[in-house]
Amino acid sequence: RAKASLGTDVCFYEEEMDEAVRNRRRMAQQMREALDQGQFSLNWQLQAAVDTGDITGYEVLLRWIQPDGTFISPADFIPLAEENGLILPIGEWVLRTACAEAASWTEPHKIAVNLSPVQLGHVDLPRLVHQVLVETGLSPSRLELEITETAMITDMERTTHVLRQLKLLGVSIAMDDFGTGYSSLSTLRAFPFDKIKLDRSFMSELDGGPQSAAIIRAVLALGESLHIPVLAEGVETLEQLAFLRDQGCDEVQGYLLGRPQKTAEAEVQAAARVLWAVDPSMEKAA
Ligand code: C2E
Ligand code: MG
Ligand code: MG
Ligand code: MG
Repeated sequence: RAKASLGTDVCFYEEEMDEAVRNRRRMAQQMREALDQGQFSLNWQLQAAVDTGDITGYEVLLRWIQPDGTFISPADFIPLAEENGLILPIGEWVLRTACAEAASWTEPHKIAVNLSPVQLGHVDLPRLVHQVLVETGLSPSRLELEITETAMITDMERTTHVLRQLKLLGVSIAMDDFGTGYSSLSTLRAFPFDKIKLDRSFMSELDGGPQSAAIIRAVLALGESLHIPVLAEGVETLEQLAFLRDQGCDEVQGYLLGRPQKTAEAEVQAAARVLWAVDPSMEKAA
């Protein structure tokens, strides 16, 4: 029995592998075309101060819509782009396009651009960022770069060196998805981040029991003693917002305030302000 079925299993396995390899090749080819043919675009999601409701900035999120209208999530194509190196030209396109667009705004809001660990490890990033800032005329103080812990653990020494060089340009650095990795705490020790972005999983599990609330409080206390502002990601309800406000969280981002949008419009900002206008009955409104 063992031999026969093992044979078929291996055969199925190989077929599936071939299929997976073919799919990845096809997707890589499609990504190259997407970049050439302008299928990538940017979305903007606002970030707001918890105490006032003022807009503090916009996170830039990459979108890929294929010619037939198919939407492919960055969570699906970025890992592949990181493997085959396409993240380098794609990431450069994101940075340049986002800075150019933000430089044309009437309101000088900050923008937050996501950086892949691959970009940190494979390009002369400080030079690229400097070049893009000069080219677009965006003030460095308006640019925040978000990095995840993965970038830090692959080569901590090199990464902190690059981050220090970036800071010398006048840009700020945020730690993204905080709390999801293996070494979030030692990452904070290695580099003086300008912001901690608490991963949205803590927000979504806030109703599920006391654990998430305790962890959020602990991270807020940590941020306070390290003098690093904390932004909570994935805020979807007024209860979550009220909880964060009571706990002294600095900034929020999430569907409650605004979905990622094609443009960073004034109407979106106005909508966010409405939430704070209902205060102090914010909890009741929910
Ligand atoms: P991220 O940097 O943590 O971005 C936040 C993600 O959470 C975005 O997903 C956003 O749409 C989503 N989000 C925001 N508010 C809420 C909410 O209230 N509820 C829920 N459920 N989700 C919310 P998105 O746009 O699908 O991006 C996924 C990830 O892809 C990003 O996570 C980031 O790691 C990566 N990514 C996106 N754009 C870029 C880029 O230009 N370069 C790189 N390297 N990575 C990018
Ligand atoms: Mg991010
Ligand atoms: Mg995040
Ligand atoms: Mg994330």
